[in-house]
Amino acid sequence: MAIVEVRNLTKEFDGGKVRAVDGVDLATKEGEYLVLLGPSGCGKTTLLRSIAGLEQPTSGDILIDGNVVNDLPPRARKIAMVFQSYALYPHKTVLANIVFPLRAAKLPLEDRRRKANWAAELLGIRHLLERKPRQLSGGERQRVALARALVREPAVFLLDEPLSNLDAKLRASARDELKRFQQEVGTTTIYVTHDQVEAMGLGDRIAVLSQGKVRQIGRPVDVYDDPADTFVATFIGSPPMNLVARGDTLVGFRPEHLLPASYVKGDAQPVKLTVDRLEYLSGDRHVYGTVTGVGERTRVIARLPATVGDPIESGREYDFAVSRDRLRHFDAATGLRSVS
Ligand code: ADP
Ligand code: MG
Repeated sequence: MAIVEVRNLTKEFDGGKVRAVDGVDLATKEGEYLVLLGPSGCGKTTLLRSIAGLEQPTSGDILIDGNVVNDLPPRARKIAMVFQSYALYPHKTVLANIVFPLRAAKLPLEDRRRKANWAAELLGIRHLLERKPRQLSGGERQRVALARALVREPAVFLLDEPLSNLDAKLRASARDELKRFQQEVGTTTIYVTHDQVEAMGLGDRIAVLSQGKVRQIGRPVDVYDDPADTFVATFIGSPPMNLVARGDTLVGFRPEHLLPASYVKGDAQPVKLTVDRLEYLSGDRHVYGTVTGVGERTRVIARLPATVGDPIESGREYDFAVSRDRLRHFDAATGLRSVS
C-alpha cells in the first residue's frame, strides 16, 4: 500500500497550445480507491500517465510515500497501470501474458508460475490460462490485464477506463468484481472514468475534473449532496441538478427533491410546476416542465417513484415544493457554491 500525491501538476502539449492538466493537487489515502471522474478530454489519461511516469510533467511534483518520483522511470515507481485497451499480446497465451512482467524482471520460473496461479485464482481465470486473448470475452480480457498488473505486486494500481469496452450488463458485474478484488488486495487504486455511475459505485472518494482542473474531491455523498460548483452539480446526477436563476444567484435542487407539495414536510420552498412531458424509467417518473416561484421561470425535471403520489398529467399545473434544506446556492458569475 502506498500514498500517491500530486502537487500543482501541469502538463502541456504542442509547446503550450494544449494544457491537458492544469495545476492539479490531490493525494490518495493509503489503500484508498480514488476515482478521477470527468468528461472526455478533461485530462484524466494524461494525469494518470504522468503518475505512471509515461508522461513528463511540464511542472509540478509527483510523490509516492512522500518521495518525489518525477525522475524515476515507470518501472521503478512500483505502479501498475491497466489501459483502456488492455494491451494484451495477441500471440501469447493468457499465462504468458500474465507472467510477462515477471520474465522481464528475470524472476525464476517457479516463482513466476506460483504468482501467475495466485493472480489467476484471485480473478477467477485459472481455466483460461492456455487460451489466446482472441478466445476471450471482453470481461475476461479485462481480468487478464488486471492479473498481469497484479503479479507485479504494485504499491499502486492505475486503471484507465478499464470497463469501457464492455457492454452495459457486463460492466455492472465487472464493476462489482473490481470493487471486491480491490477490497481483498487493499492496494491503493486510482481509477479513471467518465461514467458517474461507475465513479459513485466504486470510489471511496471522487475527484471531479474539468478542463484539466480538479473541481472537487470528496466522498460520493459529498459531491452529490454538496457540489462545489455548478459543473459538479450538473455533471453528477442523472438527471442533473436543476438550476434556477434568482437575482445574482443560481438556486439548485436535485430532481428527487422536487415533489408534490403534500409530500414535503417542514420548511419548504413552494413552486408551481407546469408539466409538459412524462417519462417512465426503471421505476421512476421523470416529470419535465417549467417551474415558477423559486426564481425565473425555468425548465426543470422532477423525479418521483412511479408508485408514489397522485397521477400527473402533461399540460397541467401542480403545486410542488422543495424542502429548504435541499436548496443549494451558487454564484451566477463564477458558478461556485455560495453560503446560505
Ligand atoms: P481524457 O483522458 O480525460 O479523455 P486526455 O488526457 O486524453 O483526456 O486529453 C486531455 C487533452 O490533452 C485533450 O485535449 C487531448 O486532445 C490532449 N492531448 C492528450 N495527449 C496529447 C498529446 N500526446 N499531444 C497533444 N495533445 C494531447
Ligand atoms: Mg482518457
